[in-house]
Amino acid sequence: MINDFFNLIFPRLCCGCRSALLKNEQIICISCVVGLPKTGFHKDKENPVNKVFWGRVDVEMATSFYFFSKKSKVQNLLHHLKYKGVKEVGFVLGELFGFELNESEFYKDIDFIIPVPLHKNKLKRRGYNQSEWIAFGLSKSMSIPVNTNSLYRKSDSETQTKKSRYNRWENVGEIFGVSNNEIEGKRILLVDDVVTTGATIEACTQVLLQKNCKVLVATIAYA
Ligand SMILES: [Zn+2]
Repeated sequence: MINDFFNLIFPRLCCGCRSALLKNEQIICISCVVGLPKTGFHKDKENPVNKVFWGRVDVEMATSFYFFSKKSKVQNLLHHLKYKGVKEVGFVLGELFGFELNESEFYKDIDFIIPVPLHKNKLKRRGYNQSEWIAFGLSKSMSIPVNTNSLYRKSDSETQTKKSRYNRWENVGEIFGVSNNEIEGKRILLVDDVVTTGATIEACTQVLLQKNCKVLVATIAYA
């Protein structure tokens, strides 16, 4: 009753389409959940996200949940996740994504889910790592533990991931590092919000490969 009253005055809005959420909806409305543009890439190794890494770095499999386009609902969701403090968007999308990955023959026998880490300065500014919240959602639906204490980011600079696209061999370990032996030889699901050039994921994967890991990749959106 009181909740209904507050909803009337301050309606909770869907982070995808801005329509008022129904009582049983959280963060994202049902019509967004049903209608967002899924890629279906997790079923096919010859998908465009996986191909981003071919000839660059030994990623076992890569996929994205949704297609990204400008001014789309997917963009709205990522905007809320990254810039408006609604970290729960990551959890909800991660959980939904996990149900799909559970149906994929390629995403099996994974030991740890590892979110792409933020540098500690950026983490302080944003207050949370958006990819970590995606990882928590994936962890729930896939029943795989999240590891956030092994892979870390050394460099604060965004431009450095771009540089590494061209000088990648010299730069292995320059941007990311591994701080303990917990993930040695493990099968890792590396998680990020968006894949575009693949440079960040490539840099992470390089250091994980040095620890004899197998690396699979999952991102919410493919731009
Ligand atoms: Zn919606």
